[in-house]
Amino acid sequence: MSAGLYCGRFAPSPTGPLHLGSLVAALASWLDARSHRGRWLVRIEDIDPPREEAGAARAQLAALAALALVPDQPPVFQSGHSDRYLKALARLQATGQVYRCGCSRTAVEREAARLGLPLNVYPGTCRDRTVAPGPAGLRVRVPTEEVVFVDRACGPFSQQLEREVGDFLVRRADGLWAYQLAVVVDDGAQAITDVVRGADLLDNTPRQIHLQRLLQLPTPRYLHVPVVLNADGEKLSKQTGAAPLDLSDPVAQLERAWRHLGFAATGTATVAEFLSHAVRAWQGRWGPLVP
Ligand SMILES: [Zn+2]
Repeated sequence: MSAGLYCGRFAPSPTGPLHLGSLVAALASWLDARSHRGRWLVRIEDIDPPREEAGAARAQLAALAALALVPDQPPVFQSGHSDRYLKALARLQATGQVYRCGCSRTAVEREAARLGLPLNVYPGTCRDRTVAPGPAGLRVRVPTEEVVFVDRACGPFSQQLEREVGDFLVRRADGLWAYQLAVVVDDGAQAITDVVRGADLLDNTPRQIHLQRLLQLPTPRYLHVPVVLNADGEKLSKQTGAAPLDLSDPVAQLERAWRHLGFAATGTATVAEFLSHAVRAWQGRWGPLVP
């Protein structure tokens, strides 16, 4: 790979202010892009209005700017990409990969329990039946073969989607786009070569690779970094009461995220010094990749 082709991204949902967990993902993806002399983009994943908070996207971008994590192009917003998602959906529909599903969450759980499957596995109830007109989700068929990829940090990872996930939603019954479809379509449209994000998304990756294959999009390289947990062992998020970053001391916030990524404190005094030290150390551990 020639160094100039690398393109990474940070893709927060605007559900609240950035917290330590989101900073870890932002910093890791920024460092990896800079280490490879690549481009770094920010994409606001605002496709779930009920979960979003007014002004959160602007606050997140301001926080990134205060930490000198500045994207190489203006940030893009998924809410503006409906045409793109519709086109991808039409492609999946044209090849018979998608079907309507009228099951509620309760119905899915009941049927999974009856079949002795984990409750979060969709058991294929509507795969071969006609669903009555009216609101319905759209699910994509999953393959029976395992989907395998090699994560740069976690090594080989495989998932048998049919048994472990089931056919999954690409559009929800309320008309909102499912995360899996939006992320795959946008990574493809933005020519993202490297996804660096929290390990809570490791087991979403095979679903995304399956969609990339159906849509004939390239599969990026993946690097999943450790997620930040709170005292109860839950992933930091707005729901688990994560504190917003204290931007009165940006270097201290960057150092906390840096130590979480497994590095020793840099002891630097300014954001610029921190970042230049961190890029060199990151490069020593994670690349640049040998083609
Ligand atoms: Zn169904």
